[in-house]
Amino acid sequence: MEPPLLDRYRRPLRDLRISVTDRCNFRCVYCMPAEVYGRDFAFLPRSLVLTYEEIARLAAIFVSLGVEKLRITGGEPLVRRDLPDLVSQLAAIRRPDGSGVDLTLTTNGSALRSLAEPLRAAGLGRITVSLDSLDDETFRRMNGVDFPVTRVLDGIVAARDAGLDPVKVNMVVRRGLNETSVLPMARWAREAGVVLRFIEYMDVGHTNGWRLDDVVPAGELVAMIDAEMPLEPVAPGYRGEVANRWRYRDGAGEVGVIASVTQPFCGDCTRARLSAEGMLYTCLFAIDGHDLKGLIRGRATDDELRDAIGAVWGRRGDRYSELRSGATVALPKVEMHALGG
Ligand code: SAM
Repeated sequence: MEPPLLDRYRRPLRDLRISVTDRCNFRCVYCMPAEVYGRDFAFLPRSLVLTYEEIARLAAIFVSLGVEKLRITGGEPLVRRDLPDLVSQLAAIRRPDGSGVDLTLTTNGSALRSLAEPLRAAGLGRITVSLDSLDDETFRRMNGVDFPVTRVLDGIVAARDAGLDPVKVNMVVRRGLNETSVLPMARWAREAGVVLRFIEYMDVGHTNGWRLDDVVPAGELVAMIDAEMPLEPVAPGYRGEVANRWRYRDGAGEVGVIASVTQPFCGDCTRARLSAEGMLYTCLFAIDGHDLKGLIRGRATDDELRDAIGAVWGRRGDRYSELRSGATVALPKVEMHALGG
């Protein structure tokens, strides 16, 4: 066995998030606000987006370097045609010890009714659905395209029926928009046996006009739930686990909080991101990426790609969330839909 690839802070490379498209059918106010992403917004032309074969080739190289978990994301991954084809290519990748990878996907759930079954059949293991409120009016306002919450809930049912396990739900909480949805979501998830994660609203990109005052701190979220449904902390399952987990004292499941603003976890960050246009980013708040598409289309061999990725990871010194301040918020950053959420 080769020694693990480590960055400058001795963090191994374990996870790869793969964005398959920069497009999305939602216009969530905190991510791709409709005022900015209107009809004439120039998304990437098809020729600049990695093909499924290119993605699978790169993913296999990442796995040979130590990646254990692949997460498909976007943009909205389910808007890209024939996604199950990519899933079956990724599911076939083997780790150096011969075992398969942990293969998952993050989606807004809008197309899961028709796609959950084909994705499962292609080899997808589990899934995360983003859902910011159960209240239809709040949800329609937040997704920016008047999409009804019942269709996402139906997508979650379809995912469970298809055998995707577990189905996790992510909820971004933004002050003044959906705090009142926190308790109803927690009650629903407990009842439905869904693993719920609350995400602190983050200063990714610039188009959302982020302000610290809009963040509802994880501590406040936990206190709010604990007051009605008592909680106790759960030890992390593995190094680099993003969510702080809490279990209900009465044994009815657990919730998690992803506190990247108030409790940054850069010290344990083992994630790389591959954007739809084939740029490698080593931080969600990155300014610059590394062009892997140029290499792959320039006929680089697998060994050359492996060396290039290894060199980028070896130089990695990102720890944006630990350095976040009034000054860093204004730094140039890549938008989340472009980089892969
Ligand atoms: N379209 C897919 C989805 O809805 O899950 C995948 C991409 S989306 C960018 C991934 C996740 O990032 C979603 O859960 C979304 O709510 C979250 N997200 C987007 N902008 C965010 C922000 N500013 N702060 C925190 N989370 C954010």
